[in-house]
Amino acid sequence: MCGILGVISQETDVAEDLYLGLWSLLHRGQESSGMVTYDNNSYHHEKGMGTVEVVFGGDTLRRLKGRIGIGHVRYSTTGESSLQNAQPIEGSFKSAPFWIAHNGNLTNTEILRKECEGRGYFFKTSTDTEVIAALIYFSGAATFEDALKRALRKIEGTYSLTILSRDALYAVRDATSNRPLSMGQGRGCTVFSSESAVYDVLGIKYVRDIQAGEIVKISLENPLIPVEVPFQNKKNAIERPCIFEYVYFLRPDSMWYQRRAQLVRERMGRALWQERPTDADIVVPVPDSSNFAGAGLAKESGLPLEMALFRSHYVGRTFIEPIRKRRTGSMRIKFNGIPELVAGKRVIVVDDSIVRGTTTKRVIAILRDAGAREIHMRVSSPQYISPCYYGIDTYRVKNELIAKNHAGNTEEIKKEIGADSLYYLSLDGMRRAITDARDDEHRVLQFCDACFTGNYHIPIPQEIIKS
Ligand code: AMP
Repeated sequence: MCGILGVISQETDVAEDLYLGLWSLLHRGQESSGMVTYDNNSYHHEKGMGTVEVVFGGDTLRRLKGRIGIGHVRYSTTGESSLQNAQPIEGSFKSAPFWIAHNGNLTNTEILRKECEGRGYFFKTSTDTEVIAALIYFSGAATFEDALKRALRKIEGTYSLTILSRDALYAVRDATSNRPLSMGQGRGCTVFSSESAVYDVLGIKYVRDIQAGEIVKISLENPLIPVEVPFQNKKNAIERPCIFEYVYFLRPDSMWYQRRAQLVRERMGRALWQERPTDADIVVPVPDSSNFAGAGLAKESGLPLEMALFRSHYVGRTFIEPIRKRRTGSMRIKFNGIPELVAGKRVIVVDDSIVRGTTTKRVIAILRDAGAREIHMRVSSPQYISPCYYGIDTYRVKNELIAKNHAGNTEEIKKEIGADSLYYLSLDGMRRAITDARDDEHRVLQFCDACFTGNYHIPIPQEIIKS
């Protein structure tokens, strides 16, 4: 999972907007951050390990001159977490550099990588993104646009991209539009961003989502006039946006397909109660990702919502840290319980998902220590049974998925996590919560829900599954 940006402005340097935008996307990746700008003459770039405030501290932003640029925050899905792999990634076409920022995961990386290496390409990173750069390099096309199209025809998997090629900025989405990417405008700028919350932060307006298989180009001559680059992929597009974005990844204040993530999550919580009403005294969400599902369940049931779990905001996402030892360590300091709120109570605990079960076990133990009489675990998404190969790192923990390891036996999972009861939202309930979150223009979306169903809309090669 990553966050990507592209900014182009009529008048001003874009580094500050990129900085604020990347800051607003930090929930999508905190391992490394990077940005590159172009000032009509040369590129300026900065990349580093850690969050934007670490990487772009001091005078860095002043050095990043230019009215056009792209940025990236990374949470590694292909290639290890290292400075070398930090994005944007540099490529070369007809001896001129260009830069790519990528969210998603290619599924035919290895074959293409070997092919390019066989032709003499020297890879500087272990990312799938650099494969796109290599394909552009070898395309043999006359123009950058044609080279890009040829490269896109060869790659498989998921990608939302922002690309900077001197005075032109491109926004690209794969033919299944699996990862988010939209466009906003205002203050003489056009911005492409993974999430719409960025437009609010920058004081501009959301315009539209980039469509499945679409390439949009903007150049410095006309920074407010996006031009669609005709591309076959758009005609063959089959939309399959990632349903887990609504469950967990999107910032609650972001809109995606005209649906505000926060309101969708509330509906998921309401649906949980409708599907499984329970005798209980209070509702406790696991902060922060489940606050709104918890609020929805509380509203629907009429039970009081109690913020009985403290979550330290100085501990990053435990899941995001690639080093397992650090994960276990940070789990001890991430949550704490408030005994006065739960002692002697029958508690409904709401979380958005259970992946390995690590968080749930910890949270239940904390609430028991705090004196909860009964603990009823409610999950606002279905059982997470299959790893994601399209841009979320759960394939790294594919042998640890608790629902898969118990073959979906809720009774066994309940015992393992230590709850008195356990209920997961149904697949239908989750889908309905999303489609119904926009009543006026009732467009029924088809999602990628491979993590809950095992139905992979883009085939996953055997060597990836076995690896
Ligand atoms: P686990 O502890 O492995 O069961 O992970 C589930 C918890 O982590 C839930 O509380 C989610 O809010 C959160 N979560 C789920 N998926 C992810 C992910 N891909 N990256 C980071 N956190 C996640």
